[in-house]
Amino acid sequence: MPKTRYPIRRRKRYCFFCKNKINYIDYKEIDLLKRFISDRGKIRPRRITGLCVQHQSDLAKAIKRAREVALISYTSR
Ligand SMILES: [Zn+2]
Repeated sequence: MPKTRYPIRRRKRYCFFCKNKINYIDYKEIDLLKRFISDRGKIRPRRITGLCVQHQSDLAKAIKRAREVALISYTSR
């Protein structure tokens, strides 16, 4: 039986950014931000991302900033 891969685990002790000791989420880190954006260009909810309140908020800001400077699109069509 092939192993099922879960890109984002539901049960996590720490959020991704806390775990990696990232205090500031850079909006230029597109590859990183994209991990938390759905196919439709929406920010994934916290229950999916597993982020803490602080980092989810920081992430949302970073993503909005990235959109403003057109690094990522609002919706991918
Ligand atoms: Zn965190």
